[in-house]
Amino acid sequence: MTPLPTTRTMYRALSRRDAAYEGVFFTGVKTTGIFCRPTCCAKKPKPENVEFFPTINEALHGGYRPCRLCRPMDSAKPVPPLVERLRRAVEAASDGRVTDKDLASMGVEPSTARRQFKSYHGMTFHAYQRARRMGLALRDVKAGRPVIDVQLARGYESTSGFRDAFTRIFGAPPRDAKGGACLLAQRIETPLGTMLALADDKGLRLLEFADRRGLERELSGLRRRLQCAIVPGSNATLEETRRQLARYFAGDSLAFELPLSPVGSEFQLRVWAELGNIPPGKTRSYAGMAARLGVPKAPRAIGRANGSNMLALVIPCHRVIRADGTLCGYAGGLWRKQRLLEHERKYSA
Ligand SMILES: [Zn+2]
Repeated sequence: MTPLPTTRTMYRALSRRDAAYEGVFFTGVKTTGIFCRPTCCAKKPKPENVEFFPTINEALHGGYRPCRLCRPMDSAKPVPPLVERLRRAVEAASDGRVTDKDLASMGVEPSTARRQFKSYHGMTFHAYQRARRMGLALRDVKAGRPVIDVQLARGYESTSGFRDAFTRIFGAPPRDAKGGACLLAQRIETPLGTMLALADDKGLRLLEFADRRGLERELSGLRRRLQCAIVPGSNATLEETRRQLARYFAGDSLAFELPLSPVGSEFQLRVWAELGNIPPGKTRSYAGMAARLGVPKAPRAIGRANGSNMLALVIPCHRVIRADGTLCGYAGGLWRKQRLLEHERKYSA
């Protein structure tokens, strides 16, 4: 991932509407919740109200929606009207979710819609919706204050259709937020994208890339199992997680030593414990895992348990590959699995 230029350089490029920086960075405007190209003709925001992002995906996960003036998601090709309609439908949906049924009631053929969106944006319609929902929720985590305060402070943008993105994804925070029964949430930026970390007094409960497929399902499952809501905040475990992730990505140490408290069935816990025995820089096959766990006929069950690991990187499910050495199935995206394995091979020698 190419690092961004310095903030000063980017802000200067922004003030000059310098076209040389097209595609190098995108700007999120905190006061409006909109993200732009550097060359946008809209009035330039004050430096303290700008956030810079290397990619569209990061800007969406920052909680921003594309500007209608400079159209940061659009190429030189004109936007197909159907694609534009789909994006507006997402903003107008009260829960940020546009289902096939909704599309049908708009008189739109769902498969056509999906195909056009993907071919124009190179990202699926589902991934886009997920990024908008999670982005809005994560913005409150970043604010680091209880969501209610944040809502009061900025009056929450009523232009955004999904006013209560946070509550829908993280659950309603308890009225009296002394919160022993709360999971604390931190957002952690890494070279491979934004991660979400959740912990309580027992230890780390979840560490996932924010654009992971199925993350919302994992969160609602955790909330149900632990009978708690998720609130922005930090504790010693989360601070240590942030420190160790920085060390990991810098190549200083690939090992994690954190209090973990994974939530799963007995079988899942066994599989996850075994994953912890695969050293950095090494890989293992599903069949190899199954043999070690004494269930040689159940590599598929191993695969499923692997896929349901909610502690990415620290429980290294990315180190399991096919018997023929090819990569497969990583909910955080195959490109990430590839990058993680390369990184570990490089620094474990
Ligand atoms: Zn703009």
